[in-house]
Amino acid sequence: ATLVAFSVGVMSEVYGELQRAAGATERLIEILECQSDIQTPPHPLPLPEPASGRVQFDQVTFHYPSRLDHAALSNFSLNIEPGKTVALVGPSGAGKSTVFQLLLRFYDPEHGAVMLDGVNVRDADPKAVRERFALVPQDPVLFGTSGWENIRYGKPDADDDAVRQAAEAAAAAEFLDKLPDGFATFLGEKGVRLSGGQRQRISLARALLRNPSVLLLDEATSALDAESERLVQAALAKLKAGRTTLVIAHRLATVVGADLIVVIDQGQIVATGTHTELLSSSPLYANLAALQFDVDFGRKEKLDARQAS
Ligand code: ADP
Ligand code: MG
Repeated sequence: ATLVAFSVGVMSEVYGELQRAAGATERLIEILECQSDIQTPPHPLPLPEPASGRVQFDQVTFHYPSRLDHAALSNFSLNIEPGKTVALVGPSGAGKSTVFQLLLRFYDPEHGAVMLDGVNVRDADPKAVRERFALVPQDPVLFGTSGWENIRYGKPDADDDAVRQAAEAAAAAEFLDKLPDGFATFLGEKGVRLSGGQRQRISLARALLRNPSVLLLDEATSALDAESERLVQAALAKLKAGRTTLVIAHRLATVVGADLIVVIDQGQIVATGTHTELLSSSPLYANLAALQFDVDFGRKEKLDARQAS
């Protein structure tokens, strides 16, 4: 019952912990989502139909409530055309995850506007806003329930056929079918433990099932084996097709393939462009690229090179 008192801000902080807790249920998360500092307007504006997936930040300044002395984003403006893939890069603490938090409306900025399909998310029903997004986290967590329910979590009213279809598209069906009870096998801490690549494919199946207009992807930093990596990339390609994708990028292949790269430092956009443009125009970008955006990734590259030789 104490959990109910959490604000949505606290909720998003404890969400990961909560997901890890054995037996955490969707119901509990629903309760938490309802207990929100975020106000639903009395007459919410409908989001346009069909969704197009246009995302805009207009001069957004935001401080986390517990850190009012430090702007997590400051005068942040970004216009993302429907269907484009935009890579966010920047050092740790730059504000990349905060961009996602504001889009999902876990917080509201003090200044400026966050817009989805031309509507200020503040003026819309937060539930309707969140329905248009799917978040694929860096290290997806499974619930202590069946494969069916783990995927259905992406869209609770989906039927088994839809769940299976998503699982097949995300290359999750092939390993779920091999488990003792197939899709009915219990997963999570107390059930069958899955590898990092398998958990990512479950997470991609959840996202596919949601059929979002905007995909938010926090790219994994940990190394997958080559086969898992290939399957995850193939599933991702399906997921990204025809949707706006914002990716917190840790891999060279991802930034090179993006339509636009946005370099963020200390809550501000310091450069935008393509990989080639930024290598010469942004010293910070050139530095991050030299480090392969991520220390772990550099390690993985070396590992792959060693395995290949
Ligand atoms: P990135 O994802 O680029 O590493 P974040 O968006 O997570 O950066 O963080 C931006 C800034 O906001 C950092 O200074 C970070 O310490 C701070 N911050 C992030 N989350 C919270 C939070 N829940 N409460 C207070 N400060 C936070
Ligand atoms: Mg982050």
